[in-house]
Amino acid sequence: MISEEASKIASQCRHYAMCKIDFLGTGLCPSGMTKHYVSYYPQGRMDIYHALANNLVPVTEEVISIARTCTLCGICDKQCHFVTGLRPMKVMRALKDYVESYLQQNREVKRVERNPILGRLKEIVGEEWATNDPAILVTYANDPFPLTDLQMPRYIVLPRISEEILRIVKFSGELGIPYVVRGNGGSVYGAVFTDGIVIDTNRMKDIEIDRENWTATVGAGVTSFDLQQEAHRHGFRVNVAEPAATVCGNLVCTGIFSTWSSAYGTGADNLINAEFVDREGNIFHLNQKTAPNVYAFQKEVTPTPGICTQAVIPLYPDTGDEEGVLVPFSTFDQAVSFARNLSVRRIGMAIGVLGNHYVSTFMSPSADLAQKARKALEETLGIKYAVFVIGDRYAREAIRRMAPVMIDEQALRMLILGLPRLIEKEWSDLVENFESTKYPYEILCREELHPILEAVLRPSPETIASLVDEDLRDFYVRLYSRPEMTSMVWLNSFRIVSSRMGRHKHVLAFLAYVPLDRMELIKRIISEWERVADSNGLEHHFGFLTPMDFGKRGVLEYDYYLDHTKESDRNRARKAMSEIEPFLDELSRETRGVMSMKYIFSQGCSRKENYLYL
Ligand code: SF4
Repeated sequence: MISEEASKIASQCRHYAMCKIDFLGTGLCPSGMTKHYVSYYPQGRMDIYHALANNLVPVTEEVISIARTCTLCGICDKQCHFVTGLRPMKVMRALKDYVESYLQQNREVKRVERNPILGRLKEIVGEEWATNDPAILVTYANDPFPLTDLQMPRYIVLPRISEEILRIVKFSGELGIPYVVRGNGGSVYGAVFTDGIVIDTNRMKDIEIDRENWTATVGAGVTSFDLQQEAHRHGFRVNVAEPAATVCGNLVCTGIFSTWSSAYGTGADNLINAEFVDREGNIFHLNQKTAPNVYAFQKEVTPTPGICTQAVIPLYPDTGDEEGVLVPFSTFDQAVSFARNLSVRRIGMAIGVLGNHYVSTFMSPSADLAQKARKALEETLGIKYAVFVIGDRYAREAIRRMAPVMIDEQALRMLILGLPRLIEKEWSDLVENFESTKYPYEILCREELHPILEAVLRPSPETIASLVDEDLRDFYVRLYSRPEMTSMVWLNSFRIVSSRMGRHKHVLAFLAYVPLDRMELIKRIISEWERVADSNGLEHHFGFLTPMDFGKRGVLEYDYYLDHTKESDRNRARKAMSEIEPFLDELSRETRGVMSMKYIFSQGCSRKENYLYL
């Protein structure tokens, strides 16, 4: 009855919610768009199958509806493969088969009773938008974070407007039932679970662009991807984070930081005004004199100021001549100094020091190719780090003079589309024949050698698609024929490849703000992250470092990887986290400019100056 293969795939869902945004232009799961509960999106369907396989929920009327509303259109297979390499269609078929055979056997379909609390919630949000059906509850009950276990809520509500949230908060206060608000996917940090009411903001998707005032007003359920798309339609850009995350969620949790933060800042820099519903059930706006001071910062783990129901955020101009460049380096020190120098001089709009693990993962449509590409970048070309920059033509001209060599948009397109050949022996033979004291990348990335690159790599959508599953090749050929799929500007604005970080295993990101002129300190933090991961047997890699505030500070990410379905990996990650926390705490007590993201979590609206220079 239950397919073991499908059950295994279902348990691997990372809950990144990429199936809830149309990031490949395939369209979205049709029933997800009308039903809005996560249970009707591929992510939720995976959870339901996993729950049925583990006897966590009975077959209810909603299970039947969820299984039957899947049209087997195949959209989720393309989306999920692009990000995680998983093939969820096997789960969708298995879910349908399971339900139909269950019904054929005339087995009991559980009817979930409506109780007075559910009745009141339905009165507030409308009949369709509140439920206590276990098939829906279970899709709001966990994520891959190692410190949390499954926690079933009692009710899910999907409000449409702020007033409804206000009434839900008041009602939960009267009853003494806890509530949490949830954005698009789940936080993947275990922050959106409760045994009470989950408020899902998926129906609050209004976006209003004010061109004259350079602002966008967004509802609580608007994702970074959707807002960026709307901003681009109007010729602007926004500084947003992970594409499937909600803008309001990011603003409140960590503040928005990205490679664009080099120019656009973080925290309160990305916020013009916002509307909140506080814990007592009052609405306040940040620009009111009497509003709580969310711009301040306290170095302690504090609750959020309330539910952010709407935010007004700044739009930035697109100069129209922006392009990306990658400046390769063989050492971390060189890369960081270069990035800092750019930031000090205000050159470039987005800047990040990237490790090879990121670069190869972003470029590769499969985990296997990413691993081989990483080896090729490092061993064949001598590239260990790259400084990624988006700049207008003046910035690129300056970088060309400052950097020994750089990979421009055209060269990167060749490297991406020719990646399967970069890992071949023919390529390494060619490089080995260079007689030079320089690193191979210093020779090969020169503009006059582009024709050689082209001849050897034979880059094309067909070349890159040759390494994916045969039945997906045509789709990948069409996909990689689109210029944005290799454009650094587009990919960095929409960030659709960053979730590939969690492709081979779930990624657990550690983040800290650091003083950028203290190289020895940055290296000490990284070496401690490395030591703790090694001593706990966890795979780990450097993530990125983005300079901020004229190169005075930077945001640093280091990543651990775990199979979240294995208890042994979860235990290792728990132990590692407990070791890292005191180290960072002590360091930040004794060193100005070091601040663990743990403290900023829930104080994301703070002025960055309040935590960068504490
Ligand atoms: S195959 Fe089913 S679950 Fe996947 S996108 Fe299509 S309708 Fe949704």
